[in-house]
Amino acid sequence: MTTHLESPIAYLKGVGPKRAELLKVELGVNTFFDLLQHLPFRYEDRSVFHRISDIEADSTSLQLKGKITKKELVGGKKASRLVAVFQDGDGALELVWFKGAKWIINQLPLNVEVVVFGRPTKFGSKWNIAHPEVEKADAFEKRRGGGLHPIYSSTEKLTNRGLNSAGLARLIRVAWDGTQSEFTETLPDHLLSELKFPSRREAFEMVHAPRTPLEADRALKRLRFEELLYLQLVLLQHKRTLTVDLPGVVFSHVGEKFHQFYSQYLPFELTNAQKRVLKEIRADLKTGWHMNRLLQGDVGSGKTIVALMAALLAIDNGYQACIMAPTEILAFQHAEGIGDLLKDMDVSVEIITGSVKKSARKPILEGLADGRVDILIGTHSLIEPTVVFKNLGLAVIDEQHKFGVAQRSKLWAKSKIPPHVLVMTATPIPRTLAMTAYGDLDISVLDELPPGRKEIVTAHRTDTKRLEILSFIEKQVKQGRQVYMVYPLIDESATIDYKDLMDGYESISRRFPLPQYQIGIVHGRMKPADKDIEMKRFASGQSQILVATTVIEVGVNVPNATLMVIESAERFGLSQLHQLRGRVGRGGGQSYCILMTKDEFSSEARRRLETMCRTNDGFEIAEVDMEIRGPGDILGTQQSGVPDLKIADLMRDREIMSTARYIAQRVLDEDPGLELPTHTTLKNNLVRILKDRPNWSRIS
Ligand code: ADP
Ligand code: MG
Repeated sequence: MTTHLESPIAYLKGVGPKRAELLKVELGVNTFFDLLQHLPFRYEDRSVFHRISDIEADSTSLQLKGKITKKELVGGKKASRLVAVFQDGDGALELVWFKGAKWIINQLPLNVEVVVFGRPTKFGSKWNIAHPEVEKADAFEKRRGGGLHPIYSSTEKLTNRGLNSAGLARLIRVAWDGTQSEFTETLPDHLLSELKFPSRREAFEMVHAPRTPLEADRALKRLRFEELLYLQLVLLQHKRTLTVDLPGVVFSHVGEKFHQFYSQYLPFELTNAQKRVLKEIRADLKTGWHMNRLLQGDVGSGKTIVALMAALLAIDNGYQACIMAPTEILAFQHAEGIGDLLKDMDVSVEIITGSVKKSARKPILEGLADGRVDILIGTHSLIEPTVVFKNLGLAVIDEQHKFGVAQRSKLWAKSKIPPHVLVMTATPIPRTLAMTAYGDLDISVLDELPPGRKEIVTAHRTDTKRLEILSFIEKQVKQGRQVYMVYPLIDESATIDYKDLMDGYESISRRFPLPQYQIGIVHGRMKPADKDIEMKRFASGQSQILVATTVIEVGVNVPNATLMVIESAERFGLSQLHQLRGRVGRGGGQSYCILMTKDEFSSEARRRLETMCRTNDGFEIAEVDMEIRGPGDILGTQQSGVPDLKIADLMRDREIMSTARYIAQRVLDEDPGLELPTHTTLKNNLVRILKDRPNWSRIS
């Protein structure tokens, strides 16, 4: 029978229908090629022989050379155990088998040189190895066994059918022998030589049977790179169709409003990062292409002012702008803040949210339609069909992670020529993840905080320190400062969480009684209007302590608040903790964040708490968060932002991803349609890949 790479795996010698079904279910392997893409996850170096006298505690599997001098079945009549004595001239240890003892005893050669491989454990004062691999030394040498052994991941079910790592390795060798001539090149020659990569055929050979660790490494790199390069080509081509190929409104000049604001009303000097990002945005806006840009900036890095100035550019060029926020509180805060900054300028700012009544909406909608309203701020109410702009030129989406991708695209329909889009994230996403999940967006980064910010001092305390914390709260309040006390509310319907919150509110109210102290409370079960009253009381300084759930997480700005106590901090996610902490440290005063926990919590929680105490840097925190939770969870379930990858891994291969992005960009800059003869390989493979992985083009 002739087989080839795409043949069903059942046709592989040694597989058959039962194993084929298991391979499909357990590893997603359907074809020969799928099997060959099941790459080793590590290698065992079998070129080194250890000595029994060198074995150290906690060692991993080792390879030894010596002789078996004695073998016997023990365990009485049942003879359930096989024990052999193995010596290498320096020392002796025992080899033990609990399974298959009667069969194995006949296979064990006595007094000839053997190679033994396994994991030593200490038994009293003696070492022993359970279920070692044993092979005659001459056979070992004959098959050149002394190289690197690939170790493949397997599953219990596969192992039960003889397909553990070694079993898979055997199948892979058979599959490789039959198909290796079919491995044609998928990368252009000039890239192979530039990056010093082996050919594709060599790479597959080297990855499954490397002679040296370096070879394995190069082969793996090449295969990972290849997958990521094609992913980036797909994303960047998609991005081109959304930008270069899609006409964007042209903001040809910087006009009066922008200049007036910059010279007269800007209340502070822009940070260098803000200036740089504004330049990037301006460059986009005047090209005539469509801007699709992600602005990443840590809490407090000053994204709002960047959005506002971009909006002024739109207005200067005769267009309207809108800013969409994820919550009412935030929308109103933006409206107030921006209204305040623009109060002496002739720019009309309006707001629409769910709670803006019909009667109040009417004049706003009219003003939008005839162009009197310059900037519209709101929640997702903005994308309702009744909201019609005269000529929307720029849409800003704040705190993107709260919006689904679908909502973003709805904004586009608001204008004949789609408005430029600026997406701002509250939680930094690791850069390489952003390159993928938001692969069709350009990325700007505000990597600098406005001057004068003091690091927030963060500490972890257990419940036993509660009294001290209460006096610390008192001290802050006596100094005229304000305090947030945050309770977890993971599940809106979880009554037990509300009980914690209410108990906390009561005990804090007893400790800080009226009329000297005013305590506020906000949570998700309150009516928006009541929530609003409480927030305003706190924002204006009427209440000193605000007991709250995570509803205060996003964006809320009360510069006089300098202390945040987070209760049951072990229950919060890392990015959520960071978001919450960002509510303090917004004014000039030294701010504090205290993470309260029980005495015991998981090691993962410990890692989160330690990270919070160690750093204030949102990007660093995002990296740790991605390590803990993986890329999928970071983006949340609404976002289908994680591509299916067979070989590469978004976490592990961050550096390779950067290279792939860079090269893909360079190729497309030179040759957008991949028409050049040197890019034929890329073009052909891209077509094939898009057929195999249609979801790659739908990532964001
Ligand atoms: P975020 O990026 O979290 O949305 P904001 O835009 O709300 O941050 O800005 C946080 C605070 O920093 C605001 O009070 C804002 O007025 C202030 N701010 C922004 N840029 C600067 C700057 N260049 N210098 C001083 N303060 C600034
Ligand atoms: Mg903000």
